[in-house]
Amino acid sequence: MTGGPPHALPSRDRACSVARTVEILSDAWMFLVLRESFFGARRFEQFQHVLKLPRNTLIVRLRKLTNLGLMHKVGYSSSASRYDYRLTEMGRDLYPTMLSLLRFGDDWLGQGAPLPLQLIHRGCGARCSPVVVCSACDQPVGARDVDYRPGSGAGEDTRDAVRKRSRRASDPAILERVRPCSVARSLQIIGDRWTFLLIRELFFGVRRFDEFAANMGIASNILTDRLQRLAAHGIIGKHAYQSRPERFEYRFTERGLDLYGPMIVMMRWGDRWLSGGKPPLLLRHKPCGKDFFARVVCSACREELDPKEMQYELRYSLVTTEDV
Ligand SMILES: [Zn+2]
Ligand SMILES: [Zn+2]
Repeated sequence: MTGGPPHALPSRDRACSVARTVEILSDAWMFLVLRESFFGARRFEQFQHVLKLPRNTLIVRLRKLTNLGLMHKVGYSSSASRYDYRLTEMGRDLYPTMLSLLRFGDDWLGQGAPLPLQLIHRGCGARCSPVVVCSACDQPVGARDVDYRPGSGAGEDTRDAVRKRSRRASDPAILERVRPCSVARSLQIIGDRWTFLLIRELFFGVRRFDEFAANMGIASNILTDRLQRLAAHGIIGKHAYQSRPERFEYRFTERGLDLYGPMIVMMRWGDRWLSGGKPPLLLRHKPCGKDFFARVVCSACREELDPKEMQYELRYSLVTTEDV
C-alpha cells in the first residue's frame, strides 16, 4: 500500500480488505478462541478450561465464529448436544495472519525476554519463524517494495457495515490472559479500529494531521490520542516540517514499517474471503515487477506454513489460577 502516490486513490475508496479482517480479530474473545483452535482445542470444555472465560461469553463467541463461517460444529457422539468446534477452511486460513502478527510481536514487542513460543515446522524439522514473501518471486516483501492500484472491488464502500460491527471487547488485559502471546501484543497496538485506520493511512503515504482528520472523518481529540499512542509504542515519529508556526508530520519508524507484513497478509485473507472475488486493491512487487499476494513461509525451508504441520515449544506455563 505504500510506495504509490499518496493520493492515487481517493481515501473514501479504500474499502480495503484489511479493515474487515481486523474487525474480526480485534474482538479479544474471538481472537483467543481462534488462537486456542490453532493450538488444537476442539471442545467447549477445552476452551473453557484454558481460557477461564464465563460460560455465556464462550457460548456467544463460538456462535459468532460459527455464524461468520470461521468455525463449524461437528457432532462427536450420538448425543446431539456434544460437539467439536472446528475451524472451517476460512478460519484455518487466518493462520498466516496469526503468524505474521506473531512475528511482528516477537521482533519488536518482547522487550528482550525470551520468545514465549517457538515454532517448529514438522515439514522440515527446523525451529523456524514465519516470513512474509511475494507469491510471484518468493522473496520477502518490505513496505518500500510495493506499488498499488485500485482493483475491481475499489469504491465499494463497506465502512458502514464495518462500523456496525465495531463494538467489541478489545481489552488489552483480556488479550494476554492465560498465555504470554506475541500476537496479542501486536493486536494491542493495531487492534483498535481508529489506530488501525491511522496505520493504513500512513501506509498510503499520508503524513499530516489535517489530512488524517479529513480522510478518516475522526474527531481531532481522538486523532491526537491515537497519534500519541502510536508514538509511545515506537510505531511513528513526529518530525517538524515548518518552524513558524511550528508544524509536524508523522512518519513510520522502522518498527512501524514492519507492520506492513501483517497488513498485506490480512489483506490477502480479506480479499479471499470477504471481497466477493473483487479485491479493492492490487499490489505489485517492484523488485520482480509482478502482481502478487502475501504468503507466509517457513524461514528454514520456504514452504507455506500450515497449522497441521506445526509444533509449538511453549516457554511458559499456563496461568491456571482462577483470578487471571
Ligand atoms: Zn516478487
Ligand atoms: Zn520448514
